[in-house]
Amino acid sequence: KAKAAGHGSYLIFDQTMREKAQYRLQLEGDLRTAISQNEFSLFYQPIVSLESGKLEGLEALVRWTHPDRGLISPDDFIPVAEETGLIGAIGQWCLDAACQQFAEWRQTFGDDAPGFLHVNVSRRQLLDPNLAKLVEQVIQKHAIPPEHLHLEVTESLIMEDQKTFIPILKKLRKSGIKIDMDDFGTGHSSLSCLHEFPLDVLKIDRSFVMNAKHVRDYAALLQAILTLADNLELQVVAEGITDSEQLILLQALGCEYGQGYLFSEPCTTEEIQSLFGSQIDWTQNSSEMQTATT
Ligand code: C2E
Ligand code: MG
Ligand code: MG
Ligand code: MG
Repeated sequence: KAKAAGHGSYLIFDQTMREKAQYRLQLEGDLRTAISQNEFSLFYQPIVSLESGKLEGLEALVRWTHPDRGLISPDDFIPVAEETGLIGAIGQWCLDAACQQFAEWRQTFGDDAPGFLHVNVSRRQLLDPNLAKLVEQVIQKHAIPPEHLHLEVTESLIMEDQKTFIPILKKLRKSGIKIDMDDFGTGHSSLSCLHEFPLDVLKIDRSFVMNAKHVRDYAALLQAILTLADNLELQVVAEGITDSEQLILLQALGCEYGQGYLFSEPCTTEEIQSLFGSQIDWTQNSSEMQTATT
């Protein structure tokens, strides 16, 4: 097939391949200096109680401001960090920086600050035999009660090798921290084996939330997941809520927590802390905003 496309296409192909490889190599080099140059920052996205409308938790999401290329999304650099092993240092920075900020907020704002901090961990971080010790050191250093920290692990990762990851999660959970299964619904775990996983929270992937309105099967699945989670005493966070119809459906199905652009995009430290203590009903406010703009 490639031959039929003619001579020129080889050149183009070679060139884009080379450009990609060069870009990749440069990214790798730049990642190495990014930590010492303070190029990472954390954004925080609200996790809202769908029942009370209160801001209950925050998910810390890393951002990289590259000196030439500007903002680079974690989806673009976390995989490179994973492959090169740089995720160790980056992940450690994220955990420590998020915990430090969280502790500071709790100190300044008391119970007006959200009670839960969610931090993502990736494959290589989980496989690091020192992770449990590192987590304990960090929460001790910042005097964070362990039950206030959630580590988020994607479903597809756990499913990739349950024999390896279940004991690791068990060990992490022994220190009292919470484990969230992230992007649930995309990793093909059978619902019947969910009870074998050491979990506290299911974060339902936004593809379910997105489709539930239009595709009846998705709404039924959502209902089944929520019933099961209830039986297993797991809390549920619906990810990627973007409109009030989705919100109303999730509320009707009894989903406890939600996250998504309807409430707020990930915010800077200053933006998010300016909202602590305000008695906003996030579910009310956003539906009003929604109707006002439509
Ligand atoms: P995630 O943990 O599933 O995080 C949710 C992602 O969805 C975030 O993207 C968030 O900005 C985005 N999002 C939230 N609400 C909505 C919505 O309503 N609609 C849409 N379309 N998107 C929404 P982000 O910040 O680009 O992060 C992407 C992924 O990168 C994360 O997915 C997580 O797997 C990974 N990641 C982010 N921060 C870290 C980190 O500190 N460490 C590690 N290891 N991974 C991280
Ligand atoms: Mg997450
Ligand atoms: Mg997710
Ligand atoms: Mg994700």
